[in-house]
Amino acid sequence: MDLIFASNNPHKQIEAQEILGPGFHILTPASLGFAGDLPETHATLRANSVEKACAVWNLFQADCFADDTGLEVDALGGAPGVYSARYAGGEKDPAANRRRLLKELEGLPFEKRTARFRCVVSLIQGGVLHIFEGTCEGHIALQESEGVQGFGYDSIFVPEGMDVTIAEISIEEKNQLSHRGKAMRALQCHLLQHRG
Ligand code: IMP
Repeated sequence: MDLIFASNNPHKQIEAQEILGPGFHILTPASLGFAGDLPETHATLRANSVEKACAVWNLFQADCFADDTGLEVDALGGAPGVYSARYAGGEKDPAANRRRLLKELEGLPFEKRTARFRCVVSLIQGGVLHIFEGTCEGHIALQESEGVQGFGYDSIFVPEGMDVTIAEISIEEKNQLSHRGKAMRALQCHLLQHRG
């Protein structure tokens, strides 16, 4: 089954393909010749996720999905949340975002650094919208780990029940427990039951 993933993030594309497996062929706007940016103009993950999926549907009129993800830190009242990509300023700079987050939490003990990734996946199938969500609870680490797996905030996020960051586990292990893994498996389950 062909599906367009409304994302330019190669890490997300690899995770999504690993979760969906060989029965699904993930295409991207770039692989179909669209070089522009996808819009993300709203103040909620859900609205941004729907906006990106609609943009791709309008471009290609083909089944597609989008993901919007945010990191909610309880000690910061849920920030950076929907603004996770630009937490450190105007540019999308993951290393600067991690540095700012660690700075904001300086001095706070591990047990008070509770946080979660929240992911909203929007699927447009035959012109109809379906929404799936996944969360991953955990803590923000006291310092950045040296792990090199994953991307974004993975090297400072310790999933519940583990003592290493996501950057220190394999992509398969991440997908088992991650926000995106949960949302994408719900999408996969839907698609397997409602093949076009
Ligand atoms: P977006 O969903 O691409 O808008 O991502 C928002 C922000 O969260 C960006 O800074 C991403 O790098 C980060 N992010 C998204 N998904 C993940 C993830 O699975 N792990 C770590 N960081 C992520």
